[in-house]
Amino acid sequence: DPAVPLHITGLTKRYAGSVDRYAVRDLGFSVERGQVLGLLGPNGAGKTTTLRMLMGLITPDAGEIRVFGQRITPGAPVLSRVGAFVEGAGFLPHLSGRANLELYWRATGRPAADAHLDEALEIAGLGDALARAVRTYSQGMRQRLAIAQAMLGLPDLLILDEPTNGLDPPQIREMREVMIRYAAQGRTVIVSSHLLAEVEQTCTHLVVMDRGRLLQAGPVAEIAGTGDTLLATLARP
Ligand code: ATP
Repeated sequence: DPAVPLHITGLTKRYAGSVDRYAVRDLGFSVERGQVLGLLGPNGAGKTTTLRMLMGLITPDAGEIRVFGQRITPGAPVLSRVGAFVEGAGFLPHLSGRANLELYWRATGRPAADAHLDEALEIAGLGDALARAVRTYSQGMRQRLAIAQAMLGLPDLLILDEPTNGLDPPQIREMREVMIRYAAQGRTVIVSSHLLAEVEQTCTHLVVMDRGRLLQAGPVAEIAGTGDTLLATLARP
């Protein structure tokens, strides 16, 4: 269905060398337009593996991923509608934040889209700091610049792998605002976290994973209030 941002069925991945342990096993869920979906689970649950398969970076052993109705394979055209934040984006420290993003956008070979650039920058909320050299940025600002980079071109589906890693509580709150602003106007966000407390105020829906498997999926209010013991662990920083 071309109207559905993400539909996954039977997704399975086992890394070479790990004989009896699946990183992701028989995972299935859907994400609807306008949702902010939190992919929640402890370390090693398989969140990053799942997101990397969605981005077409690694190939599943079994199962299917459809983004706006199209099958994800490495280099699939529909990936141009997907923006992704992964840790460790590199920037040129002596250039301004804005210049870094302009350079990146031109390097992707896509047509100049200044309106999109401005909107992405505004959502990221870096304000006057965009004119300053990246070397003067705090970690939180670099993180937001990396997220602005993922938002360039205003992709219909934005995937953020642990965007609050290493941020302090005020920065985490700002990040929350960035995600909520992005999802407004019918765009869709998928964000991973190992802390329920970090995502429950941002997300409309949750998918909870443990050891590669899906434990729960549904609207955040239905899941966060269940008193589940795994969720209780995930709530603690
Ligand atoms: P974290 O929050 O620590 O990033 P995660 O939920 O993202 O955890 P994954 O990184 O997807 O989990 O890891 C799932 C499992 O796959 C873990 O057991 C991990 O050790 C294993 N794994 C991840 N990457 C590789 C790899 N490149 N080669 C072999 N095993 C891997």
